[in-house]
Amino acid sequence: MVFSFLGVALRRRTELFKGRMKKNLSAGDVLDARCTRCRVVTNHTIIAMVEDKVVRVQCNTCNGVHNYYAPVEKRPARTAVQKEAGAPKRARVGRQSAAQAEWEELSRSVDPGAAIRYEMGRGYRVDDLVQHPVFGLGIVKTTTRPNKMEVLFEGGVKLLRCTL
Ligand SMILES: [Zn+2]
Repeated sequence: MVFSFLGVALRRRTELFKGRMKKNLSAGDVLDARCTRCRVVTNHTIIAMVEDKVVRVQCNTCNGVHNYYAPVEKRPARTAVQKEAGAPKRARVGRQSAAQAEWEELSRSVDPGAAIRYEMGRGYRVDDLVQHPVFGLGIVKTTTRPNKMEVLFEGGVKLLRCTL
C-alpha cells in the first residue's frame, strides 16, 4: 500500500516534470493562440502564467490583451457556445439535478421491494412508491383527479396517467 502510494506520487511528479520540459514556456514568450478580437489564430506574447499554464496573452497583431485560448478550435468554441446559451440550459440542468438529489435522498430511505408496479388503471396516493418499466423506481409527489399524478424518478418528475 505504501509502495503503490509512492509509485503514484512518483509517477505524478514525473508527469509534471515532463509537461514542463515539453513546453517550458514563460512570460514574454511568443506562442500561437486564438485572438478574441481578430477571431483567428495569431502570434501572442505571454503576459501571465499560472504554474505551467498560460493564462493571459497579448495579440501581436492587434495588441489586444485577453485570456489565453489554445489554437485548437474545438474546445474554446464549445465553451463559447455554452456560455452564450448558458442561462436557460444551466437552469434546466440545475432543476434536474435538484430532482435527482431529492430522488437519491428518498431512495435511500425507502424499501424498493415495497414499490407498486405502475399501471394506468391503478390508484395511487402521495408518497406511494412506484416501479415503472421505463423510469424505474419513483415516488408519487402529487395526484390530480381524475387521472394524473406527478412521480419523482431518478431522471426527474414525470406526469403519469393513473386512476384516482
Ligand atoms: Zn488580435
